[in-house]
Amino acid sequence: MHLQRNQDRELPCRQVLGYSVQGRPIDLWQLTQGVHSLLLIGGVHGNEVEGYDLLERYLAHEGWRSWAGKVTLWMIPRLNPDGCAVGQRLNARGVDLNRNLPTRDWIPTPSEARYSPGAAPASEPETQALLACLAWIQPQLILSAHSCEQNPCVNYNGPARELAEVMAAHNGLPVTDDIGYPTPGSLGTWAGRERGIPTLTLELLRGTPRDPVWQEQAPALQALLEFVASGSHEWPNNEL
Ligand SMILES: [Zn+2]
Repeated sequence: MHLQRNQDRELPCRQVLGYSVQGRPIDLWQLTQGVHSLLLIGGVHGNEVEGYDLLERYLAHEGWRSWAGKVTLWMIPRLNPDGCAVGQRLNARGVDLNRNLPTRDWIPTPSEARYSPGAAPASEPETQALLACLAWIQPQLILSAHSCEQNPCVNYNGPARELAEVMAAHNGLPVTDDIGYPTPGSLGTWAGRERGIPTLTLELLRGTPRDPVWQEQAPALQALLEFVASGSHEWPNNEL
């Protein structure tokens, strides 16, 4: 993988982070260059179109242009392009990418088939691409956009409560650090709990049409970026 920052490149710039099980490219966009770095991730679960449609719409809408010089904004619109192509949660090998990260609590046996963690931690090419990306860009804040069948929320892991509350003030969703069941091998655990990187998991209500999602969530996303750009957040010191 030969990823480049934007020194000699025009932004926005798209790079290929890696390839899915079926050979689809996993894109990484750098939209702006600034002070604090923020990574937006969509399409971890391919049946959660509400989440990745929101990010792809944000990418197309170009509201992010106002963060140039303030925030280094990265986006992986679809981490699981194979799942997104057919509308399934799991990747093409039947693995839940949000249970496949090499966390201390990774377990080989899922509580349900839809949480299949893979043959080993980081066994999947999509997970390996994400890990390489995280090590390279060292985000100070991660936001992953998902959807769920009930109890939509702004979930946070690590020192991110204040950031979750900024979003919640605009989208009206409850803030919680506990979604009610264990998530071994998840990004929130790997980045937020184990490394102290503020990590938000936006859980939208499954089945919400795309226009209401956009109307409700785009202001929350912009508010989060405004808060980061304003410099008023106190960042933890951490290294991957
Ligand atoms: Zn999900």
